[in-house]
Amino acid sequence: MPDVSLEAFETEARGFLDAHATRREAEKTFVWGEGSDKVSLFDEKAREREREELARAQEWRAAKFDAGFGWISGPTQFGGRELPNPYERLWSSLESQYEVPNQSFFGIGLGMVAPTILAHATDTAKDRYLRAMYRGDIVACQLFSEPGAGSDLASLQTKAERDGEEWLITGQKVWTSGAQYSDIGEIICRTDPDQPKHKGLTGFVVDMRAPGVEVRPLRQMTGGASFNEVFFNEVRVRDDHRLGDVNQGWTVALTTLMNERASIGAGGAGGVTGGMTTRLIEMVRYFGLDEDPIVRDELASIVTSLRVAGYTNQRAMDKIKRGQLPGPELSIAKLSLTMNMRRISEFATRVLGPRIVADSGEWGTYAWGAFFLGVPGMRIAGGSDEVMRNIVGERVLGLPKDPGIDSVTPFRDLKVGTQKS
Ligand SMILES: Cc1cc2nc3c(=O)[nH]c(=O)nc-3n(C[C@H](O)[C@H](O)[C@H](O)COP(=O)(O)OP(=O)(O)OC[C@H]3O[C@@H](n4cnc5c(N)ncnc54)[C@H](O)[C@@H]3O)c2cc1C
Repeated sequence: MPDVSLEAFETEARGFLDAHATRREAEKTFVWGEGSDKVSLFDEKAREREREELARAQEWRAAKFDAGFGWISGPTQFGGRELPNPYERLWSSLESQYEVPNQSFFGIGLGMVAPTILAHATDTAKDRYLRAMYRGDIVACQLFSEPGAGSDLASLQTKAERDGEEWLITGQKVWTSGAQYSDIGEIICRTDPDQPKHKGLTGFVVDMRAPGVEVRPLRQMTGGASFNEVFFNEVRVRDDHRLGDVNQGWTVALTTLMNERASIGAGGAGGVTGGMTTRLIEMVRYFGLDEDPIVRDELASIVTSLRVAGYTNQRAMDKIKRGQLPGPELSIAKLSLTMNMRRISEFATRVLGPRIVADSGEWGTYAWGAFFLGVPGMRIAGGSDEVMRNIVGERVLGLPKDPGIDSVTPFRDLKVGTQKS
């Protein structure tokens, strides 16, 4: 039985929010040509602005953590309050009614790395990192993908060699989102090259500022550089920073990957519902195409798909909230999300024509280029469309297995429960 009722918690939370943040103005009705026309899928900024926003985000996290709202359902031992999930949900809904600094810097750390640390780290690492991560003092990234290991993650080659009470890490990771501002990273390394590929892996928490770590930004076609190559040259990691047992890193990776897919789901439809529907309708009206039967038909079909995708996603999220493992719903939800993004970008391109490539300064036109150019990245991140189709084909439709693919767990495919590690 929680030591505080939901009503008392709400009063406490509202008190904190009123004292430390400004209430959002009621959602304004969308009017074409007013406000921001930004529709980009990736939050890309210049480095200096990124640093300033991170500082504000950290300040907010620290304030709410110190007031008891930073890890509402987490263990008290690490600064949490061990309150049930409805309290966490209530807080999120209350917080969303206020203007607070952008918290996306913590998405990977708190959504994926912290749950893995909680499940697999030594007490030393848990003590050192969990409280600091939830307080926003430490930001984390995910160091999984390599030039030769993405979908087939278990092919990764970055090695960790034992040296007494330490490990020496050498190799290269790639596509590491947020490495440029991260303090630590969760890394999966090969610790026994003689074992089958899923068996010789081990996870670690690595200090991103340690000697031998080099972060190089990768420029995307959208113009931003939100992910990086990360090179490791004999980087020392203490054995008490190991995640799970030696050579059991695949199980550790699965914990993170399951949370990765759930984080994508928890992000709802990735900003393509609600406001997006209204924006598309108003765009069609503005360009005088609202009587065009083909445009109307396509728009109605997109809006219907967005609704259906929202329900599938909700089913998966509800299962997670009930403490159950979602099945292939998360793969279907990810696939529908990216299919809808692709349809939206093709639709907007058709409506806007050359305006999408020529920056004429006209509101709501060229800005769509960032959406269009961001869709391919969304179709790859967190498991590509093709890999999601394989999962749905094999596990929902019962089709034969992908030929030539290792049958254990070759992909960023969450065969949790059937996993033989
Ligand atoms: C925006 C973004 C952010 C990312 N952030 C991170 C991060 O923070 N940390 C991290 O570790 N990684 C990150 N990644 C990497 C991401 O996880 C990988 O890109 C993804 O797993 C795909 O791997 P790959 O790029 O090596 O492509 P590959 O696996 O080489 O795939 C290439 C193509 O082949 C297809 N393909 C592969 N296998 C099959 C198959 N069996 N059947 C059919 N088709 C197949 C794929 O669908 C794809 O079209 C990020 C990627 C993106 C785009």
